[in-house]
Amino acid sequence: MESEAVDFLAGVAGQGEVKRRLQRLTEAGKLPHALLFYGPKGTGKEAAGLEFGRYLLCGRENAPCGQCKSCRMYRNFEHPDFYYLFPIKRPKKDKEGYDWEDKMNEPELESYRRELQNKAADLYYPVHYPGASGIILDQVRRMIQRSSLTSYMGGRRYALISPAEAMNDESQNALLKLLEEPPDDFYLCLVSSRPEALFTTVVSRCQGFYFKPLSESEIGAGLQRHYQASAEAVQSIKGRADGSFGKARQLFKEGDPAREEALDGFLLPIVMERPVEIYNFCRKYEKTVNKAYVKDILFSLDQWLKDISLMDAGLAPQYYTDKVKTERLERFRKEVIYSNLAELRQATLAAVDIIDRNIYIDMMLTNLAVEYGKHLKWKRLKK
Ligand SMILES: [Zn+2]
Repeated sequence: MESEAVDFLAGVAGQGEVKRRLQRLTEAGKLPHALLFYGPKGTGKEAAGLEFGRYLLCGRENAPCGQCKSCRMYRNFEHPDFYYLFPIKRPKKDKEGYDWEDKMNEPELESYRRELQNKAADLYYPVHYPGASGIILDQVRRMIQRSSLTSYMGGRRYALISPAEAMNDESQNALLKLLEEPPDDFYLCLVSSRPEALFTTVVSRCQGFYFKPLSESEIGAGLQRHYQASAEAVQSIKGRADGSFGKARQLFKEGDPAREEALDGFLLPIVMERPVEIYNFCRKYEKTVNKAYVKDILFSLDQWLKDISLMDAGLAPQYYTDKVKTERLERFRKEVIYSNLAELRQATLAAVDIIDRNIYIDMMLTNLAVEYGKHLKWKRLKK
C-alpha cells in the first residue's frame, strides 16, 4: 500500500514509491548526482525537491532534524550551499553576467523575498515572480560558478531547478557541462511536468523519478496533514482535484472560482431571468484560451445538479458538502421549480465533450443557458 506512514520527506503528500526509492538510494550511498522529478502538474515534484534537499544537507542522523543550523537556514532559503533556481524577470543585459540579484531594484527584490517567504511557509505554494520570463542564463552560470568552489558549510551541496523547462537552450547547454562532471558533493534536482521540452542530452544524464497523480485518499490525508483541513473540506475537495495536490491546495486555500462562476455567473441569472447578465457571462468566454477553466465551470454545474438529485432521493450531497453550500442547495430546492435534471446534466456533459473542438464557446454557453432556462425557474417569478 501507498502510505503516509513513510516518514521520509514527511512534508510531501503521497508519492510513497518515489520516497522509498530516494531513501534506499541515499542510504545505500548510490544516489545519482542528477535527479529528474517528472510527472503531471500538482503531484508534488517541487515540494519533494525542496524536502529532499533539506534531508541531504542536514548532517544529522535523523535528517532532516529541523533543529540544526543547516535545517534552519535551508527552510528560510538562506543556506549557502543550496541553490534554488526558478523563473525570474530578465534583468537588463549586463556584461559580467553573474550579478542578476544585484540588478534588482527595491520593489523587485521585495517581491522576490516575499515569494521565498511564502514558499518557506508552504512547500506547495506556487512561486510566481512578477514579470518572470524564465530561468535565465545568469542564474545557471552563477550556480555553476559556485559549484566549482568548496562547500560553505562543509557538507553536501544541492541545486533545485524548477521548472527545468523554463531554462532556454543557452541555459541548458551551460548546465550540460555540469551534468557531465558534477563535483562529488554536489547534487542537482530538475523538476519538470514537460520533460519532453528539455534537451534529451540533459534528460539522459539524470535519473528519472516519476510522480504519479495522487489517489483521493492521499489528497485527503495531505490536506488534513499539511493544511489542517476539516473532514468536510476534504470530502468536498478530494474528488475534484484530478489527482493534483496542487489543485486541491488551491481549492482549499483560494476557494473555487469556477464554482462561484458556475453558481453566481451562470445559474443564478438564468433562474432569476436576467438575460443581460446571461449574455455578458457568455460573451466573457468568447475568446477565452482557458478551456480547462470553462470545463471546470461546466463540471461544477453538473455536480450541482447531481447533488440536487441526490438530495431529492433523500441522500446527502456529494460535492457541495460544506455548510454554506449545502444550505444553498436547500434553498435552491425550495425556491426553484426544476424538472428533468438528468437531461440538463446530459446537455452539460455534452458541452464539456465538444469544448476542445474548434467551437464558439460563447455560442455553446448561450445554447446551454437556453436549455437551462427551459428547466429552471425561480418560484416567485412564476406568473
Ligand atoms: Zn538538520
